[in-house]
Amino acid sequence: MPYKAALVGNPNSGKTSLFNDLTGSNQYVGNWPGVTVEKKSGFTAGKEFEVVDLPGIYSLSPYTMEEIVTRDFIIDQHPDVLVNIVDGTNIERNLYLTLQVLELSIPTVVAVNMIDQVRGGGGDIDCDRLSAQLGVPVIPISAKTGYHVDKVMKTAKKLAGTNWRAEDVVRYDSASRQMLHEIVSILADYCDDSDRLLFYAGKLVEQDENILRRLKLPEEAIQAVDRIVALFLSKAEYGDRETVMADIRYRYIEKLVAGSVKKPENSGALSTTDKIDKVLTNRFLAIPIFFLIIFLMFGITFGPVGTFLQDCVDYLFNDILAPAVSRLLLIANAPDWTHSLLVDAVIGGVGGILTFVPQITLLFMFLSFLEDSGYMARAAFIMDKIMRKFGLSGKSFIPMLMGFGCTTPAVMAARSLENEKDRNLTIMLTPFMSCGARMPIYALFAGVFFEDNREIVVFSMYILGMAVAVLSGILLSKTVFRGVFSPFVLELPQYHMPSFRAIMLRTWEKSKGFIIKAGTIIFAMSVVVWFFQNFDASFQMVSNSGDSMLGQLGKWIAGLFAPLGFGTWQAAVSILTGLVAKESVVSTMNVLYADGGSISAALSQVFTPLSAYAFMAFTLLYMPCISAFATIRREMNSMKWALATALYQTGVAYLVSLLIFQVGSFVTGML
Ligand code: GDP
Ligand code: MG
Repeated sequence: MPYKAALVGNPNSGKTSLFNDLTGSNQYVGNWPGVTVEKKSGFTAGKEFEVVDLPGIYSLSPYTMEEIVTRDFIIDQHPDVLVNIVDGTNIERNLYLTLQVLELSIPTVVAVNMIDQVRGGGGDIDCDRLSAQLGVPVIPISAKTGYHVDKVMKTAKKLAGTNWRAEDVVRYDSASRQMLHEIVSILADYCDDSDRLLFYAGKLVEQDENILRRLKLPEEAIQAVDRIVALFLSKAEYGDRETVMADIRYRYIEKLVAGSVKKPENSGALSTTDKIDKVLTNRFLAIPIFFLIIFLMFGITFGPVGTFLQDCVDYLFNDILAPAVSRLLLIANAPDWTHSLLVDAVIGGVGGILTFVPQITLLFMFLSFLEDSGYMARAAFIMDKIMRKFGLSGKSFIPMLMGFGCTTPAVMAARSLENEKDRNLTIMLTPFMSCGARMPIYALFAGVFFEDNREIVVFSMYILGMAVAVLSGILLSKTVFRGVFSPFVLELPQYHMPSFRAIMLRTWEKSKGFIIKAGTIIFAMSVVVWFFQNFDASFQMVSNSGDSMLGQLGKWIAGLFAPLGFGTWQAAVSILTGLVAKESVVSTMNVLYADGGSISAALSQVFTPLSAYAFMAFTLLYMPCISAFATIRREMNSMKWALATALYQTGVAYLVSLLIFQVGSFVTGML
């Protein structure tokens, strides 16, 4: 049996980097049961350890989902050893978690990460001395370069499963220790979990509700604890009960750090991060730079590089695979409909989506780079100033940024907003941020109708989404969601040059979903669309797809879209299938327009540039796909709200698209 090891640390301390170092590609990503926090686990080479990458946390108090998940995992699953990762560039704050982790009586190795950066800046951390003071192994590492990573696991192996008592390693000042021990001796009568008593004692001082519920102490025990704490507070010069544990820990950290940490010599001068921030978050430059970066990202993704890669994949499907399959079917003397199913529907539908993999991958690569380097947090910070002016919470900007990737996790990220109104408003606005699945639609239409300004047109879609979100924010926060907003607190991490490997892994994780979707949902949708497009209600094959079931349905609703400039049954049907997954809009069009040559030619017959633009805007804004909708329902915890959200979005889509087409027609009519 491999030992179970868990990585615990602050957000951005390098857990995932170390996790990748240890497990390579040998990892599994899932969810923690019952919640939507991501769970990653994997095996080290040789299967010596099963490693779990716990969510990043600042403390073991139960204020966030991440903290609860981490805490419950450690207490209930009892890993054989913990690796506590400490960001060496920010050691005081990180040690605050370390001290709480040590209270849990689980063998722990402290790994002081980013030592390359600490030393590079002229500072140093005396880990041996720290280790002697803390009473646990402390190892300087760099998860980025792999320095000492093996040593961490060797030490972990020695410690794994040993008898480890928190009382032996937690060394607060004597008065505090005395108080905690008195509480421990009361607890001992009521609680079997004898290893965790010190941890529980601290939590009782903090009046942690979760722990109180877990322990089910009788009233007299609680009163006894209260008396001990009151006595302690009356004697010692600590603040009130809420902050006393934090006080005790920070005083202890101060002593720890004083002898062991040498701050970078130039700490009077500006650190690299400060220097970069002087430019990137400069009062005047921040916003232009932000837009420049985003524009560059789109320029490369949708410009020459992206389109070249896309053409390569397209060539593979349309010029190699499709003719080959056609020929095979011909040789096998297969009936006509098999050709239409396999070549038009399956290769056309699935292949049509897969051609966007290079661009999606590029986009995710840029987003991962921005996230990993530390710029993303700045972007949120920069945008916060703007968003405040509109009465929006700055914290909503993080889920909204994530919305550029995929709406579903972005909606989940809105959990980080404590206030329910903020949260619901953010959830309503996040789908307006253009997710990766909508990109194939823009790429297709921009490629056909705006060949010369492809990047600008696609970029304008993203801007349109943001603008609609901001305007909706103003509108909704003044009407439905009136109330107070919580202030914006966000850690600005240090800048890092992200490692190539980490970016590639992250990009792959995100793109994988897209490819799997193409192979499953899009595949199924293509076949379903093909079927309903070729058969009528009495299941007879039709020669003109306008007579098919799909054609009939499409014609029935197409009239609705006529004022928007795209009242064809094909467009209507694409919009409907887009509800399953937005990529389906494109794969459906590929299937519907498959007979008779290229899709670009077919599209340019039924759309004008103006109606194409209106169509893009509609698909950007109307209600998100089923999976996102289900998530919205779950996170808002109300079907009514979820439906209202979907209705609002579809209404806005209709209105904006109508405006684009009607005003556009009027203006072009005047010219
Ligand atoms: P997590 O949030 O704890 O999972 O942290 P990550 O593993 O995602 O790392 C956050 C950032 O720190 C990334 O940009 C990493 O490339 C960077 N990073 C991680 N370890 C090191 C290190 O040892 N040295 C340096 N200079 N950067 C690191
Ligand atoms: Mg991580």
